[in-house]
Amino acid sequence: MSAISRNLQAVNQDISTSLKLARRQPDAVNLLAVSKSWGAEAVMAAADAGQRAFGENYEQEAVAKMAALRAARPDLALEWHYIGPIQSNKTRSIAEHFDWVHTVDRERVAKRLSDQRPADKPPLNVCIQVNISGEETKSGVLPEAVEGLARTIEALPRLRLRGLMAIPAPEDSVEKQREPFKKMQQLFALLRGKGIEMDTLSMGMSDDMGAAIAEGATIVRVGTAIFGQRKPNE
Ligand SMILES: *Cc1c(COP(=O)(O)O)cnc(C)c1O
Repeated sequence: MSAISRNLQAVNQDISTSLKLARRQPDAVNLLAVSKSWGAEAVMAAADAGQRAFGENYEQEAVAKMAALRAARPDLALEWHYIGPIQSNKTRSIAEHFDWVHTVDRERVAKRLSDQRPADKPPLNVCIQVNISGEETKSGVLPEAVEGLARTIEALPRLRLRGLMAIPAPEDSVEKQREPFKKMQQLFALLRGKGIEMDTLSMGMSDDMGAAIAEGATIVRVGTAIFGQRKPNE
């Protein structure tokens, strides 16, 4: 068994354990394998071990990997999620190649993604990135501005609003990690209460996945725990 396949098994086991502890349904969380900076061979190893959803941060790197995977595994239906910062000049390629985008944080980008989504594909699934800790340097929409952006996205014909995403600042203790995730869960509930239809809370990475699942995550984005340590600056 490859290291990646063993790691995947361990991560899936951790997810199950966290779900049980939280008394949630066994299938309530989907694992997004974050393959940024890793080559097509690593994605292939994970796909061969049963993983289907992959997260990428860099448009060019991702599109090359998609082509390699299509060539090597033409029968596998893989799902590609864009989770990196969005530059306006990359929206066309993102709209053409990805199934999901987790990092929509402004109206202009949402409109471009909708306009540029090819007609022969289903609407692009999107999450709004929320700056839940309110840090000035962090990307994402402040909590009070999420409703407005959500209403805009709901009205765009080629986007399907799926939910909210966050990358809180790293914390050592599980208690501290849970605070921003709890705020996300409350914001999610508030907006759904106002009639905004969403089913996804994208939160939790290798080091805070358990805390995120305890607070209602439905997608965890895990890189290091599956593929290993990335090189610095990646
Ligand atoms: C890199 C990245 C991840 C994965 O982080 P790990 O700590 O390697 O699990 C998750 N989400 C986003 C947005 C990322 O950029």
